[in-house]
Amino acid sequence: MREECGIIAAFNVPGAQNIAYYGLTALQHRGQEAAGLAAVLPNGLIHVHKGFGLAHNVIRAEHLQACESDRVLGHVRYARSSENTAVNIQPIVIRSHAGDFAIAHNGSVTNSRELKIELEAAGSIFHSTGDSELLAHLIQRATGSFYDRVVAALPQLDGAFAYAILTPNALYAIRDHNGIRPLSLGKLNGAYLISSESCAFDIIGAEFVRDIAPGEILRISDNGGLESRFYVDEDKCRDRLCAMEYVYFSRPDSDLRGLNVHTARKRTGFALAANDRAELTDGRLRADIVVGVPDSSLSAAQGYAEAAGLPYEMGLIKNKYYGRTFIQPVQSEREKGVKIKLSAVRSVVRGKHILLVDDSIVRGTTSRRIVNLLREVGAASVHLRIGSPQIISPCFYGVDMSTRDELVSVSMDIESLRLYTGADSLKFLPLEQMRAIFGQNLCSACFDRNYPTELYSLGKEL
Ligand code: SF4
Repeated sequence: MREECGIIAAFNVPGAQNIAYYGLTALQHRGQEAAGLAAVLPNGLIHVHKGFGLAHNVIRAEHLQACESDRVLGHVRYARSSENTAVNIQPIVIRSHAGDFAIAHNGSVTNSRELKIELEAAGSIFHSTGDSELLAHLIQRATGSFYDRVVAALPQLDGAFAYAILTPNALYAIRDHNGIRPLSLGKLNGAYLISSESCAFDIIGAEFVRDIAPGEILRISDNGGLESRFYVDEDKCRDRLCAMEYVYFSRPDSDLRGLNVHTARKRTGFALAANDRAELTDGRLRADIVVGVPDSSLSAAQGYAEAAGLPYEMGLIKNKYYGRTFIQPVQSEREKGVKIKLSAVRSVVRGKHILLVDDSIVRGTTSRRIVNLLREVGAASVHLRIGSPQIISPCFYGVDMSTRDELVSVSMDIESLRLYTGADSLKFLPLEQMRAIFGQNLCSACFDRNYPTELYSLGKEL
């Protein structure tokens, strides 16, 4: 599975189905292809409702009624086209001798292929291609209490993952021991919630408690108690949060490791402006206005404008009712998407020297199209600044850039890329500056090839 998804769960709180639903709408940016809710019903059975589409299209009033419960797990999903099938929509519900449970995840297990071959040889049958079902099989093969089984199953997985497991009497929140994918604990009226991002807590009036620690399996039980265990020795647990969570994925109103995402992005804009200071001062770089690419680059553009003392203008408008370009699975749809989702504001842009800020360049098609859009409406020049380093290596941790061929910076140096995008100048944020802003403990493998886990058969892509 290659996905960037969102998880929300509420446990022991009346109306948990509504809380999970609103949480999913706050996490919608993490996946727009499918959504689902699993609820423990008063008779102890787990009911699931899920389907393709945005949360508000999939989950209607009658479905919320059917999911009425004080313990609910929700998921929004992004998937590659080959895996975008109904059986892969989460949460999945397992009925087994280990007890019934619902499970959902965000991220990717790097040794899933090897594990599935082993499990199939031992008699397991998989219905989906997803990593949720993989952990479910491992849990069923383990022994002891449900908690013991989860603790025994997890060390067999490698990669980047956050899992949530809901049983009739407990909720488990799990993060991989490198802490690559985010997962947080919140509290509402004495009850606990978990969410991929803290922004979901804010919209439902819950308070942020803490991040789930790398390698932690947190059990929230019926009596409201918390029990924490680690599935590997704590000295093997490291904090390697995905740098792209700050750059692109997370919502600006989320906090990751205590650092607000908007603030972090704004600081990338400060750094980009500092790198241009000499040229702005002596006139080698002429910029009348700063324009950000909506939405994920607006914070960095504001930072640049503030630091450089330039006007920040809305030179590009996003059609908010169209999905995010980077997370659409088919290249042809992605290219169509760029055209439909952005417009340049002619009266703002015409005749101006534009300092354009974008968060990242993956395939290059979006940057090229945006520079073009600005030129078409009369920009005098377009200087492109990127709030992250060049992406030079694939991601095997759940982000849809898993082959070198997809990455334009693999085959182009900065000058070739400038020519390709049509910009008058192009600069990226250097890696050291990105680390100084987001924290030294990061996964930055797509920028520096320093992968924090083994890659198993996926490594042949390198
Ligand atoms: S390789 Fe890049 S996108 Fe993937 S987890 Fe690491 S930093 Fe994030």
